Amino acid sequence: RFITLEGGEGAGKSTQIARLKEWLEGRGHTVVTTREPGGSSGAEMIRKLLVEGPADRWDGKTEALLHFAARRDHLRATVWPALKRGAWVVSDRFADSTRAYQGYGHGLDLAELEALYNIAVGPFRPDLTVILDLPVEVGLARAAARRGVETRYETLPRSFHDRVRAGFLEIARSEPGRCVVIDANRDIESVAGDVARTVGERLES
Ligand code: C5P
Repeated sequence: RFITLEGGEGAGKSTQIARLKEWLEGRGHTVVTTREPGGSSGAEMIRKLLVEGPADRWDGKTEALLHFAARRDHLRATVWPALKRGAWVVSDRFADSTRAYQGYGHGLDLAELEALYNIAVGPFRPDLTVILDLPVEVGLARAAARRGVETRYETLPRSFHDRVRAGFLEIARSEPGRCVVIDANRDIESVAGDVARTVGERLES
């Protein structure tokens, strides 16, 4: 099973992934957690190119191509081998982040992004995508509170983050069989409970 967690800045994805891993392991599953951009040695090299440096370092299409190059390496080196061994794989971000950030956020053509997806990934899709949704100002405040080195995206205007949020919600509306939206503007326990319940209902029955 391949599960992806998506959401804007400060949505709490990494906390919820750690909780979901514990929950799944408690139910006897082998779990591999991973992240994008990154998740394999090659993709982590590409991540450095993406997250370091000035926000205008790459034009939008170049950025999208780097994301898909990283994604292909991540799938080949990490995700697909783990699934083949029978593990459950939980990824912090996947292709919906490219759709939301580069597509809805930066205005790249969504059909072109789907073409890139088909080239880089093929027919493979997540079994379940959990979208952690919360107001932009709450997420940015959370992200600022844990401010580290990788902050170049947080300097983008508020309107950009609004488009990203709306993009994730639009993706969820258009693919209800794959996507579930969970209100992340609550305490960790409540969100973790909803994530576990969703995974149990959608993938274990
Ligand atoms: O998930 P995480 O917050 O670590 O992602 C690192 C940064 O990369 C974030 O600031 C996110 O906004 C950005 N990003 C992006 N486009 C993607 C994926 C991530 O701009 N497709």
